[in-house]
Amino acid sequence: MKALVLASHNAGKLKELQAMLGDRFHVRSVAEFSQEAPEETGLSFIENAILKARHAARVSGLPALADDSGLAVDYLGGAPGIHSARYAGNGDDAANNSKLLQALQDVPDAQRGAQFVCALALVQHADDPLPVVCEGLWRGRILHAPQGANGFGYDPLFWVDAHQCSSAELEPALKNRISHRALAMAQLSARLETLE
Ligand code: IMP
Repeated sequence: MKALVLASHNAGKLKELQAMLGDRFHVRSVAEFSQEAPEETGLSFIENAILKARHAARVSGLPALADDSGLAVDYLGGAPGIHSARYAGNGDDAANNSKLLQALQDVPDAQRGAQFVCALALVQHADDPLPVVCEGLWRGRILHAPQGANGFGYDPLFWVDAHQCSSAELEPALKNRISHRALAMAQLSARLETLE
């Protein structure tokens, strides 16, 4: 089974990506090779996914897959967007969620639309001139208070209309079939076969 390095230190993302890939690859975490995360200097999810994938391939010497993702809230002009992980400054999920609720205080439901965005980048090696990039978007609405204990990040605030619950109330296996990450992964799937 071919090894693939996942370029993330985020435990929630790693768990989901591992569940999606685990039976096809010997999935390894970049943390096995380096504790240093590259600076996310890109202006887009795509640029940041590519730079994280290149870094993981460089420190591991293996093909690498990176996820750059976040929450884009319509009322906030797409914020927190690429800054989702550190929206409240310290990378703490609860603090990020509180800041978001504060920013949307008194905003009615009709204006609380949002989407989770995921860019996945796959590189065969650190200097790969043709990274494969796939994107997934998942529409929802921001709740007025957190609900549910599954998932990570903004899941407790993200209302999923099709299932009438928050994304933190979805069974993990179901989230992994319908999320932004799942949609991006479905597109990447065929390209991953070239590694197998
Ligand atoms: P990144 O590590 O820079 O890609 O940051 C991703 C951030 O976006 C996470 O720390 C979460 O705050 C948020 N995020 C991305 N995907 C999800 C998800 O599936 N559920 C909840 N929050 C997410």
